[in-house]
Amino acid sequence: IKQVYTFGGGVKHEDPRSRDKIICGGKGANLAEMAGIGLPVPPGFTITTEECVKYLAEGANFSDQLRADVAEALTHIEKTVGKRFGDAADPLLVSVRSGARVSMPGMMDTVLNLGLNDATVEGLAKVSGDERFAWDSYRRFIQMYSDVVLGVEHHLFEEALEIAKEDNGYENDTELTAADWKKVVAEYKGIVEAELGRAFPLDVNEQLWGAIQAVFDSWDSDRAKVYRRLNDIPGDWGTAVNVQAMVFGNMGETSATGVAFTRDPATGEKAYYGEWLVNAQGEDVVAGIRTPQYLTKAARERAGAKPLSMEEVMPAAYGELADVFELLEKHYKDMQDIEFTVERGKLWMLQTRSGKRTAKAALKMAVDMVAEGLIDETTAIKRIDPMALDQLLHPTLDPKATRDVLGKGLPASPGAASGTIVLDADTAEKRAELGESVILVRVETSPEDIHGMHAAKGILTARGGMTSHAAVVARGMGRCCVSGASGVSIDMKSRTLKIGNRNLKEGDVITLDGSTGDIMAGEVPTVEPELAGDFAELMTWADKHRRMKVRTNAETPADCKMARQFGAEGIGLCRTEHMFFDASRISAVRQMILAEDEAGRRAALKKLLPEQRDDFAQIFMVMAGLPVTIRLLDPPLHEFLPQGDAEFADLSETIGIAVDTLKRRADELHEANPMLGHRGCRLGITFPEIYEMQARAIFEAACDVIDKVGDAPVPEVMIPLVATRRELAILKKLVDETAAQVFAEKGKSVEYIVGTMIELPRAALMAGEIAEEAKFFSFGTNDLTQTTLGVSRDDAARFLSPYVDKGIYARDPFVSLDIEGVGQLVQLGAERGRATRADLKLGICGEHGGDPASIAFCEKVGLDYVSASPYRVPIARLAAAQAAL
Ligand code: ADP
Ligand code: MG
Ligand code: MG
Repeated sequence: IKQVYTFGGGVKHEDPRSRDKIICGGKGANLAEMAGIGLPVPPGFTITTEECVKYLAEGANFSDQLRADVAEALTHIEKTVGKRFGDAADPLLVSVRSGARVSMPGMMDTVLNLGLNDATVEGLAKVSGDERFAWDSYRRFIQMYSDVVLGVEHHLFEEALEIAKEDNGYENDTELTAADWKKVVAEYKGIVEAELGRAFPLDVNEQLWGAIQAVFDSWDSDRAKVYRRLNDIPGDWGTAVNVQAMVFGNMGETSATGVAFTRDPATGEKAYYGEWLVNAQGEDVVAGIRTPQYLTKAARERAGAKPLSMEEVMPAAYGELADVFELLEKHYKDMQDIEFTVERGKLWMLQTRSGKRTAKAALKMAVDMVAEGLIDETTAIKRIDPMALDQLLHPTLDPKATRDVLGKGLPASPGAASGTIVLDADTAEKRAELGESVILVRVETSPEDIHGMHAAKGILTARGGMTSHAAVVARGMGRCCVSGASGVSIDMKSRTLKIGNRNLKEGDVITLDGSTGDIMAGEVPTVEPELAGDFAELMTWADKHRRMKVRTNAETPADCKMARQFGAEGIGLCRTEHMFFDASRISAVRQMILAEDEAGRRAALKKLLPEQRDDFAQIFMVMAGLPVTIRLLDPPLHEFLPQGDAEFADLSETIGIAVDTLKRRADELHEANPMLGHRGCRLGITFPEIYEMQARAIFEAACDVIDKVGDAPVPEVMIPLVATRRELAILKKLVDETAAQVFAEKGKSVEYIVGTMIELPRAALMAGEIAEEAKFFSFGTNDLTQTTLGVSRDDAARFLSPYVDKGIYARDPFVSLDIEGVGQLVQLGAERGRATRADLKLGICGEHGGDPASIAFCEKVGLDYVSASPYRVPIARLAAAQAAL
């Protein structure tokens, strides 16, 4: 199999490997493709990624075959260009460029102007008629080669150049003359010799193979490894090497170099966007040595900039470039990111690839391209990363605003928020009620902070990861959250805090950026999301193509309303315990929990009934006509207990039971392992009056709502943490009897069904039997993951990220479903359940219901719906469509 592929100079790319990104890398494959469609590409060749993988495993013992193939490919370049490599009279120069399967901008190495030495530089000077250009190129080469291949630190060269400029009283590089550059070259060579104890290599073949190895090696450089980890790129892909004839953008005022996008990558606007520099080589544009200029006249004028655009300075080359833009977009049917060089008026293409873009731009381009007939709807749907929609659904910081960054944490929940710092949940709630925007800052959060989190515009924690309580709850609420900001230390006594090295106090204003994790001083202005237009259009297409329904996890009327606006088709999980935490009811809840007997509990439940009924009625109003899955009380009771003497004293006063008695009851409720303790349906079995009250509240509310809106919701009563058929049978009977009673009292009835959450391995295994009692299953994959992996979600932060780093789990199993393991239980549960009851409704309501990879799995298993937090609903709609296509 060939490992070296030539391009340019009329080469026909018959071998599909030559246009395959996996074999030749993105850069090589696209250079071949561009040359193939007749664009002006300097000739060259590509050594495959397979050769890189071999080199990294076996070292630099290149085969004779490879050396012969490279020599032959070099001859191809020489013939095409009409110059010879190492020819002292008229030398061919080449660039040696990395290029992996996907672009890793700036991560790996490139060497330009290779083939220069003391003899060839004279030839270059003569043939070009420009001595200054030749010596400038030579010093660039020594500097770059020494840095990339020989490992000499580049600041040594920069310092030498600075001194040369100072000595001559120059400001810019452009002022150095040929004689000056000659002196700089001599100095550079001296630096190399002093650093390495040997001379800079003057043999051009030694230079070439040195650069090839350096490019291969750069695949395993530290920064490349970090980039791969952050972007989920496997370490065994390797990079290709592209060797290409040099063209020169630094041959005076009719030469130039630049980068361009065929559409604006920030806004998606159909307008060329780019930067260029006269008399410069490629790296100058990105390195910031000189400030690049605008490409088009329109962009220059809009920015009010003076230096003329390429369109104005080089109209002919610009016109040619604009034609290339059009051709490339038609060819690749996508926005292209392009590198080009103009050598003495002639345009050369050096790179093209599909350009990276913001979510907003991605949407606009996809919708525009469908309208232009460039792509069809399904291509548009597939092209948008569902997770990127998150950027669009929350208010974001005005990109034009300046930031005074105090510190950084994890970007736990996107969006942005400014407000005054408050250090506890009650204060957050009080101040928010007075109309203040507050940011809740805690070491970490717990369920008792929910009301404060809800009241806050943003949440900042010093501890906890991306799946900490704060992060999960904030994402669910759509609150912006920065978690695990280790630079934050809080002193509750003086109610002050330190962020980084800045001292702050409660009441000071800060701003959080939940998309980057930045914590900033003062208020930074935000801009509201735009849900109409392109977004709405793409969503209609997605809805047309998906099979699964998308519901939401929500328990407040406000969240339900928002989710409906985002397109939710029902509620997949309404967690009733959140309603119990409400400040106005917590004492009745505590009275119920601490009651000595059933009579005591019933007295407390009586107080809770109207409140709970009202909760459901409000939700049913918003969700009229849609299914609403309500999960009966799930958490262990001790979570609701008073904390500290003051709270016990308060409660004692309210409910008239002595503090000592209360404390004794509280102690009795203590559990060693509450996650696996007295919770879920176990509460319903031991204290049936709790579930009875909840069922009554549901049915009374449903009956009342029919009267008001005429369109009833369909309550789906869900029993949590079921492991056996018998548990469900007992509780289903309780719910059915309560329903019958309410319907008799009200003289009317509503449709409803009873089902269960499948969240224990036993339930999945016994799904066939359980389905005899259940009309629906909802896979509670949070608990199912905990119980299957034997990993407590609340304690996992400490070891899960090292686990992911070591590749033990590919991704955090609480974020993206462990399809191999937990997925088997879901599939098995679905199959066994359906075997018993063909029309069993199947859904998922864990965090995974909003994760695209997990959603694709749900489609495969044939679930009827996924349920996600409100802000994830659009993501789920798009992901469900992609999964179905
Ligand atoms: P990166 O992947 O970091 O962008 P490249 O291999 O694309 O690295 O090289 C960086 C820059 O070097 C290019 O943008 C281009 O301007 C310049 N360059 C590369 N090869 C050549 C060449 N054969 N002739 C002229 N300039 C080149
Ligand atoms: Mg490039
Ligand atoms: Mg659960």
